[in-house]
Amino acid sequence: MSESDVVIASGAELIARTLKSQGVEVVFGIVGIPIVEVAEACVAAGIRFIGFRNEQSAAYAASVYGYLSGYPGVCLTVGGPGVIHALAGVLNSKLNCWPLILLSGSCESDQVDKGAFQELDQVEATRPYCKYSARSTSIEQLPSTIEKAFRAALYGRPGPAYVDLPADYVQYPIRNKELYDSIQLPRIPNAPKSMASQLDIDNAISLLKNAQHPLIVVGKGAAYARAENEVREFIDKVQVPFLPTPMGKGVVRDDHPLCVSAARSKVLKEADVVLLIGARLNWILHYGQSPRWNKDVKFIQIDIAPEELGNNCHDTLHLLGDIQLVVPQLTRALDGKLPNIESTYVSGLLDKVKQNVEKLKAAGANGSDDAVLTYQAAFTVIKNCLPEDDIVYVSEGANTMDIARSYFDVNHPRQRLDAGTGATMGVGMGYTIGAQVYYSAQENKKRVVSIVGDSAFGFSAMEIETAIRSCLPVVIIVINNNGIYHGLEDDDYQTSQKEGTLPTTALSPEVRYDLISEACGGKGWLVKNRVELAKALEEALASKDQTCLINVLIAPGGRQKLDFAWMQKSKKSRL
Ligand code: ADP
Repeated sequence: MSESDVVIASGAELIARTLKSQGVEVVFGIVGIPIVEVAEACVAAGIRFIGFRNEQSAAYAASVYGYLSGYPGVCLTVGGPGVIHALAGVLNSKLNCWPLILLSGSCESDQVDKGAFQELDQVEATRPYCKYSARSTSIEQLPSTIEKAFRAALYGRPGPAYVDLPADYVQYPIRNKELYDSIQLPRIPNAPKSMASQLDIDNAISLLKNAQHPLIVVGKGAAYARAENEVREFIDKVQVPFLPTPMGKGVVRDDHPLCVSAARSKVLKEADVVLLIGARLNWILHYGQSPRWNKDVKFIQIDIAPEELGNNCHDTLHLLGDIQLVVPQLTRALDGKLPNIESTYVSGLLDKVKQNVEKLKAAGANGSDDAVLTYQAAFTVIKNCLPEDDIVYVSEGANTMDIARSYFDVNHPRQRLDAGTGATMGVGMGYTIGAQVYYSAQENKKRVVSIVGDSAFGFSAMEIETAIRSCLPVVIIVINNNGIYHGLEDDDYQTSQKEGTLPTTALSPEVRYDLISEACGGKGWLVKNRVELAKALEEALASKDQTCLINVLIAPGGRQKLDFAWMQKSKKSRL
């Protein structure tokens, strides 16, 4: 930039102005040299800054904010170790296909390769996980580099992008007002959307029309695409049973009469034609292969990413395009209900749903009011206390997440967040904060209720201070069984500890997570039975503007074998 005498702005202000003009309303991160000035400039420009205790959670918060808002979440960190910590969130965004921008400070341009303060080749470090990763060659170029990062993150299949913020650019004294004003870039237009080809639509329609046991799988891609109206209209028209994936829940209401979540194993085995709407055939859907699926099943796949089509199941029918446009193409091409659906298929599934829901209810009702809590009893109490709408669930932990999924109906899109494609443990606090920041800013405010295991909470427990400092009225319910998967009773724990035989899954018994909340200025409860849990939750819900944590002691479970539904059933060893 050419120089006159008067400094009119700094590089940090230019960066903040660029973010503001890209429509950024909130930045998640941790300040330090050299990006304190960037955070300060963002705040001065009217952007909210949420300061975390570890970059990992900040990056998780930004990644989930991108999913919820449909526009890249922004994370700001220092260089070197700060970037490495934030990589966890970058990977999480890549795995879940969510838009994220990571901006990180880096050493001054003339100190590269000299062993500078927190020096790392951050462009290379982030490249394997990012759609775009860049360092501008000049301060003038930085706004357009940031703009490119936004487009890369948002357009096509969403994902993460990285931009380096060299310390000398951040501190750069800008003197040329004309040039400064001229490099302000308008917000990038919304992502362009495309339809599927007519030939592919025709082929999909004939496959669907011939199906006797059709199924629709609704994934979190449909939630991200904000295609809830289109998907619901389609399902209502064709009257086909549907199965939401864990984060696809709520795109169409869980209490819709055609929702067959509670008959999942049965429908996977029976379905002959499956329409995948924004869901991948990865571990969550057992790769689309037998024995979990019928071996002759045919998939029709709607996805925005061509490279996803046919992945793991080569013989799929491809509908390349945006769900918001492709689903209505199908709706328009069909006259109404699919003609060949076997009525016993649907009625059999609905019977199974009924039976399984009854089983869940019975398991939840087990045990007296003062009995030691089980997962099922705790979730039943929580479900009965929570209002039906306006709750956003965060769910994390192995058993906690797995079992809770069946207990809580989700009737609105993007209101259930869990460990996702990466099965990432430790996302809970970042998600809770990111989601509450998002939903508190909406006209129809919603409260985030985070139901997490004790191990999962421990990954980022200190972020409760972030929530309290940021005045976020989240309710965190720690389902505390003294361990990872299972824990030990106190006496077993003490003996094993003395003998040096503690299982690797054990955590200290009855840790007072509630006191961590209180110590940081929030509210906390320790509860051991149904009555105490219901009372604590009512009080937490009534305290509308405070951060609350309920520490729920449940039966530790002891030394059980691990068994989760998603695991491959045992195969003969090939050794
Ligand atoms: P789930 O975990 O619910 O099974 P996945 O994350 O595996 O869902 O799959 C989501 C898919 O949705 C991804 O393959 C992604 O490319 C796709 N997707 C995201 N947004 C859109 C969109 N607007 N239109 C079509 N497909 C989309």
